[in-house]
Amino acid sequence: MSYQLTIEPLGQVLDIEDGQTILDAALRAGIYIPHACCHGLCATCKVNVTDGEIDHGEASTFALMDYERDEGQCLACCATLLSDTTIEAEIDEEPDARFLPVQDYQGTVSRIEDLTPTIKGVWIELDRPMDFQAGQYINLHVPGESAPRAFSIASAPAQASEIELNIRLVPGGKGTAWVHQQLSSGEEVKLSGPYGRFFVRESAHKKDELGYIFLAGGSGLSSPRSMILDLLESGCEKPIALINGARSSEELYHHEEFTDLASKHSNFSYVAALSSDDAGWPGARGFVHEAAKAHFRNDFRGHKAYLCGPPLMIDACISTLMQGRLFERDIYTEKFISAADAQQVRSPLFKKI
Ligand SMILES: Cc1cc2nc3c(=O)[nH]c(=O)nc-3n(C[C@H](O)[C@H](O)[C@H](O)COP(=O)(O)OP(=O)(O)OC[C@H]3O[C@@H](n4cnc5c(N)ncnc54)[C@H](O)[C@@H]3O)c2cc1C
Repeated sequence: MSYQLTIEPLGQVLDIEDGQTILDAALRAGIYIPHACCHGLCATCKVNVTDGEIDHGEASTFALMDYERDEGQCLACCATLLSDTTIEAEIDEEPDARFLPVQDYQGTVSRIEDLTPTIKGVWIELDRPMDFQAGQYINLHVPGESAPRAFSIASAPAQASEIELNIRLVPGGKGTAWVHQQLSSGEEVKLSGPYGRFFVRESAHKKDELGYIFLAGGSGLSSPRSMILDLLESGCEKPIALINGARSSEELYHHEEFTDLASKHSNFSYVAALSSDDAGWPGARGFVHEAAKAHFRNDFRGHKAYLCGPPLMIDACISTLMQGRLFERDIYTEKFISAADAQQVRSPLFKKI
């Protein structure tokens, strides 16, 4: 049984398949409803149901309280329709977002190799080119798992037929264990994309002549790599800095590539920082936020910053950037939230400080 979903204030009407969530239908129609955890836990995708009946799915009672359900609110990431329905959602106007509806793709693993002891490089040849904005991510289907796993695209949009993913093995993680221990070259995979709003805000950089700071930790180098390659390929002349953090020198990857890019592009500077005592390492030491603070002498004014990696790294970097006089509006983040992180998200009334 399929129903119709009307999204206000756009007035757009979508056909919804049985069991399809409101968020999935909206993204596939190129309509961006703000969202984050996609597990019914963070409440970012809360919308008002003004007409019709829905099933709340796995919305947590912390993220969507009983009185909010009674008032007709739902979480778009897990709500499905039980009748024709109308919702009212906050649809952001984002001048730099391209209209790129999410689509399904078949892919073949063309190459898979160890980038570090814990990070695999996975190259996937797609059945057709994917149009995406540098910084966006895909959802990879994991055999035997109902929920797909999110991985940022590490290659530049110019390579639209073959995408590169950098996938870190998560202890106890089913999907990343499958990638690390079973997935091999020549295998077929299913994925959907492009997703996300982590991309370069060209209009802000043009208007205010701001430089770019990219802060990356571990496999969080993926999105910044795509964005930096895209900027350099398109002839960007503004200052671009990448501060890349890894635990040890063996966990550092694409290091030669960025060192080489920095020697060829005078507007690109690259700092690799190691957080462990790695004897003989001649470069920066400490966590990403500490290396950024030292590199910019604690003054980040005149920049926009793009942060990508695990939640703790992002939080530490935001504090450092704001202490160094960057406003929150100049900071964009992609948090690599996993199922374990999503479980820690509780009521929006009890936000972590
Ligand atoms: C937008 C986005 C982009 C991302 N891009 C990348 C990328 O480019 N590269 C990359 O390496 N990672 C990336 N990630 C992170 C990546 O999606 C996760 O590491 C991945 O989903 C983990 O999948 P898994 O199946 O291995 O782990 P899961 O099986 O999902 O488990 C993850 C962890 O949670 C624990 N866990 C599972 N279920 C529960 C539960 N119910 N309660 C408590 N704990 C639980 C597991 O034991 C494990 O430790 C990204 C995440 C997001 C949101």
